[in-house]
Amino acid sequence: MTEILPNFIKNRALLTPDREAIVFNKESLTFKELYEKAYYRAGLLTAFGVKDTDYVGFLIKSDLETVLHLFAMQIIGAKAVLLNNRLTANEMTFQLTDANATFLITEDHFQETARQLAEELKISVYYKEGIEDRSYIEPIEKEQFSLADTCTIMYTSGTTGLPKGVIQSYGNHWWSAIGNTLNAGLYEKETWLCAVPLFHISGFSILMRSVIYGMKIVLHDGFNEHKVLQDIREERVTIVSVVTTMLERIEQATNEKFPAYFRYMLLGGGPATVELITRCINKGIRVYYSYGMTETSSQIVTLSPEDSIRKIGSAGKALFPAQLKIVNDLGEVLGPNEVGEIKVCGPNVSQGYLNKENHLKDGWFFTGDIGYIDSEGFLYVLDRRSDLIISGGENVYPAEVEAVLSEMEGIKEAAVIGIPDNQWGQVPVAFVVVDGSVLSEKSIMKNCEKSLAKYKIPKRVFFVSELPRNASGKIVRRNLREWVEEQKDF
Ligand code: ATP
Ligand code: MG
Repeated sequence: MTEILPNFIKNRALLTPDREAIVFNKESLTFKELYEKAYYRAGLLTAFGVKDTDYVGFLIKSDLETVLHLFAMQIIGAKAVLLNNRLTANEMTFQLTDANATFLITEDHFQETARQLAEELKISVYYKEGIEDRSYIEPIEKEQFSLADTCTIMYTSGTTGLPKGVIQSYGNHWWSAIGNTLNAGLYEKETWLCAVPLFHISGFSILMRSVIYGMKIVLHDGFNEHKVLQDIREERVTIVSVVTTMLERIEQATNEKFPAYFRYMLLGGGPATVELITRCINKGIRVYYSYGMTETSSQIVTLSPEDSIRKIGSAGKALFPAQLKIVNDLGEVLGPNEVGEIKVCGPNVSQGYLNKENHLKDGWFFTGDIGYIDSEGFLYVLDRRSDLIISGGENVYPAEVEAVLSEMEGIKEAAVIGIPDNQWGQVPVAFVVVDGSVLSEKSIMKNCEKSLAKYKIPKRVFFVSELPRNASGKIVRRNLREWVEEQKDF
């Protein structure tokens, strides 16, 4: 097996120089222009002192200049440490220190945070703006990548604990892109709309697919459902990456039929309710529901539209280069429909975290998520292992109860956790955010009886104005558990 590939962006510019690569706010670049501009930025970074061995923090928003600097990193072979721009300065300090980053690439918008980071850390700050005034030194271009070379460091969302710095190699990104297209195919006029953050694997993986496939990207600087719907028509978009809340908003914002060239929404990042997917199907919005994580460099399991009705609720099958198994606590592989921990393996799976011992066991990554595979090989993700509630010996998956609650009239969102209980060991309790409707704890519990077995029905319902979320927008259930523990009379 060859372990060496040509530098992706350089090779793409050689193969299809005049093909459109990216559109941002009506400005468009071909692959040749993208490469030349990225090359120029590689020269600016070189003059700034960046070398191939450096880890470089990125505190950025999504725009063309960011894309150019990200590709400039690949031209030099330096490693990008992508920071979620919604983190606090303290959280960023933790990640930059852990990654031993020596440079920070940022923009005026984050000046205040960048100044704080520069004071606390030995880090040189480079602003994307004002590049005309910077000095330039011819960069030492990396002609080839070894697939094992580190391309990016991305921290996990920190939903279950401290974020972990995932080492993503060129090989991981390459195989992730290949796995996607082996599953979903590649159209000649493929155009992928990116309104998810570039600092997250969902967005960054679109950049990698673009240069590997020679595919056009339509980049948005944030998510606006109306702009997405408009660009699907104006830019003839064929694929859009979305998380659940984005898909909800897109689905609600339109009753029009999607154009025939539109292929699908790639839905990932967390659980989606069957109701949402059904509503999309009814409106003719094709959805590829997927399961993945930072460690798998984007999706690793995907459900195709042809299975989406028959296998609704399933995340699908492993992509061709990857494999999937369910194991019990002893690590023994379980059979169809048996519930256990999901373990995955494949060339898109990261080989390790920064500053941590290798976490793979015989090449398999234990995801910490629980689920089962049905007799046809379709995966159903139930929840995170650490969030599982065991009540009177029965398993209660918070995600299932949350899905029932959030589909109730008047409830905007819900979170469910287990609390200690003398009789049952643990019982579920719920936190709900209402949309202004007047709902009582009793009526919510009563309503649950229609869809949930008795042991799954929350024993208490707390009304809150918002749920604790991390910078990735995920509910942090451990904060709710801490809150409950602090309530002495509970
Ligand atoms: P941390 O690892 O720091 O606790 P995190 O796991 O939330 O944070 P990410 O890598 O952003 O960090 O998220 C991956 C997780 O998202 C998966 O392990 C899984 O729990 C959840 N997830 C992703 N896709 C799905 C899905 N289709 N259904 C259910 N859960 C999903
Ligand atoms: Mg995780």
